[in-house]
Amino acid sequence: EAAADSPLLQSLNPEQKAAVTLPAEHALILAGAGSGKTRVLTTRIAWLLATGQIGPGNVMAVTFTNKAAKEMMTRLTAMLPVNVRGMWIGTFHGLCNRFLRAHWKLANLPATFQILDTQDQLSSIKRLMKQHNVDEERFPAKELQWFIAGAKEEGLRPNMVEVRTEDDRRKAEIYQLYEEQCQREGVVDFAELMLRSYELLRDNDAIREHYRRRFHHILVDEFQDTNKLQYAWLKMFAGGNNAVFAVGDDDQSIYAFRGARVGNMADFVREFDVRHQIKLEQNYRSFSNILDSANALIAHNKTRLGKNLRTDQGPGEPVRVYEAPTDMAEAQWMVEEIRNLYREGVPRHEIAVLYRSNAQSRVIETSLFNAAVPYRVYGGLRFFERAEIKHALSYLRLLENPNDDTSFIRVVNFPARGIGARTIEQLQDAARASGSSLHDAVKATTGKAGANLAAFVQKIDAMRAETEGLTLREIIEVMLQRSGLVEHYRAERDGADRIENLEELVNAAESFVTQEGFGRDAVALPIDELGANVLRQSPASQGLDPSLPEVNEPAPDYVPPDAETGETLSPLAAFLTHAALESGDNQAQAGQDAVQLMTVHAAKGLEFDCVFVTGLEEGLFPSERSLADYEGLEEERRLMYVAITRARKRLYLSYSQTRLLHGQTRYNVKSRFFDELPEGALKWLTPRNQSFGGSAFGFGMGYPTSRSGNSMATGYGRDRTETFASPPVPQQKAEPAHGLKQGMKVFHTKFGEGTVLTIEGSGPDARAHINFPRHGQKWLALAVAKLTPVT
Ligand code: ATP
Ligand code: MG
Repeated sequence: EAAADSPLLQSLNPEQKAAVTLPAEHALILAGAGSGKTRVLTTRIAWLLATGQIGPGNVMAVTFTNKAAKEMMTRLTAMLPVNVRGMWIGTFHGLCNRFLRAHWKLANLPATFQILDTQDQLSSIKRLMKQHNVDEERFPAKELQWFIAGAKEEGLRPNMVEVRTEDDRRKAEIYQLYEEQCQREGVVDFAELMLRSYELLRDNDAIREHYRRRFHHILVDEFQDTNKLQYAWLKMFAGGNNAVFAVGDDDQSIYAFRGARVGNMADFVREFDVRHQIKLEQNYRSFSNILDSANALIAHNKTRLGKNLRTDQGPGEPVRVYEAPTDMAEAQWMVEEIRNLYREGVPRHEIAVLYRSNAQSRVIETSLFNAAVPYRVYGGLRFFERAEIKHALSYLRLLENPNDDTSFIRVVNFPARGIGARTIEQLQDAARASGSSLHDAVKATTGKAGANLAAFVQKIDAMRAETEGLTLREIIEVMLQRSGLVEHYRAERDGADRIENLEELVNAAESFVTQEGFGRDAVALPIDELGANVLRQSPASQGLDPSLPEVNEPAPDYVPPDAETGETLSPLAAFLTHAALESGDNQAQAGQDAVQLMTVHAAKGLEFDCVFVTGLEEGLFPSERSLADYEGLEEERRLMYVAITRARKRLYLSYSQTRLLHGQTRYNVKSRFFDELPEGALKWLTPRNQSFGGSAFGFGMGYPTSRSGNSMATGYGRDRTETFASPPVPQQKAEPAHGLKQGMKVFHTKFGEGTVLTIEGSGPDARAHINFPRHGQKWLALAVAKLTPVT
């Protein structure tokens, strides 16, 4: 039949094909690194859509990182002309956010609730502790943060946590106070996104039924890393006649320290009565020297489900090992290697530098920076987490929600305006006494301190009035001036960088408004010949390499407009959500061909032609803490297995005899993992003969001619490199089809007559800010909202 010989299946091996075409029943695909799990998962979605078995709305696909979610969408669009943007593909947090945005009322949240990132959460907890005289010595804020997140990830509310000692009782009490504070301020932390949506699904039969009927297929990548709450959350969606397709690898379980349960795989098989289990044993990613190293290493673990991995590719190049005298020397050697690789034609984004701990990245960044090699850091101190950006975002958040006390505290006296700690404490007391937000409590203050506070509140309120009806870009520009931030940093000695970052924020907002529209160059086709409701890409988007970064990348935190009214988040609210969820990228270098820097944890699921695993030293990798117990060490080994298996063609392992870390020079012994690798697969480069390292083995020898079916399969010809140097970015300006203009009077079926204040975005992403005298101001998605001009 047609479904069995779909062209989508042609490049799959028999086991993969079997997995992709399984009937609509629960299944577990358990297989090692690089065996095509993610490819199978994505192809299954494409196959289900292309054969008309389901529509794009009937699928939910979950994964762990924004980068992996984007990758999944990119792979999907490469196979099928489908608009992935409205599809439920994303991270657990991203999907929970979307879910709660749709059901904010039932979830007991304000419509514009904002997300607290880990940093904000910590300062929120610290603030609370001060107010309630919690002893910081006895209860360090970080520990409480860990405790609260841990409880939530177990699905436990304050009244449910186990209390055995006086300390336990106190912790539960702080947890309770923290929850009340968040609720009052209209903010949710990451774990709360999960827990709140889980509880809503659990307690509301109608909603649960709705989603169960809607999602015929639920697909989960990296299933081995789900924690208890995520698993319970999945079960809420997966109760009807739908099919759960879980893929995972027990050898890559690297989040046990955060509550991940490999046991979820066994539970899944038992509780869902899973009848289809498929193993994939062929690795398509790496040459055998790399794969043999990974296999030999992981064989040292005792707790394994047991799988095999083989490859048909030849041995390839040996794994290069480098020993450096200092961490600086290690970084410099690496930068030299990277420049050689680039000269040999390897695009920079195919080079990844992995490390065990974020603290290692500074030295590497410095060396890359000095050598003018563009790089991009994933994780670590991310763009949206920089102090100056946080300050700017706090002002923006106050415009959106004056009751956001975390933001209030952050900027009430920044730049300094004579509001001291004492005044803030008094204000907090007053707010607590009257049960109001800090913003509202200001009214009751008196004296000079009160006047300063009132001036601040006035400033914010005036800014809100002034920015009404402006575009996102203009709002940010006004905020930067009026808040005094730019002026403040201009006066600072090394404020130039910070001002540059603030300007970058304007750019980030600008590209959010235009790029967030993933479907911007897609033309709607209501029903595909196969019966699937798909979007076909316009010619302008063809001939683009879908693996190019920043092209065709949808925002994983995209929230679709209300289907009935077309109501949508304001660009500011959407941008703030984006900033909280997507803090992953270094915006300043977005779009440029750059070397990829990240922790091993963040690299899970990804692959690169060339990989450097750095800092392979006892106490660093494996980490100090892991050495205490056997399970800890096994987890480190799995982490090392993940690191090794990211490489397709060339792998470098390096370590340094000394390292400056956290202000101390450490004298290192090389990692025990070296003793667990097959000597025959390694080539030791010493500092003496390192000049042979780069070019002794010709790059490009023995390359597979077809790896994935997309254009990445071509080697690195000169043309190719040049293409990478200036990626084509479609810059079409679509005619505004909606025909609306600022100041125009329109009629909406639900909100009645209104006046257009602003229009943002274009094509299918155009939104209008409209003032409806009877319903207030609304942001509407023009593709959805039914508006007619009133003449
Ligand atoms: P990980 O465990 O690291 O997440 P994975 O099992 O998800 O790995 P994929 O990322 O899906 O593996 O696939 C690894 C690489 O092998 C990808 O580049 C993929 O396109 C390629 N690949 C998978 N199956 C095949 C196949 N049958 N033919 C050619 N290439 C394949
Ligand atoms: Mg994968």
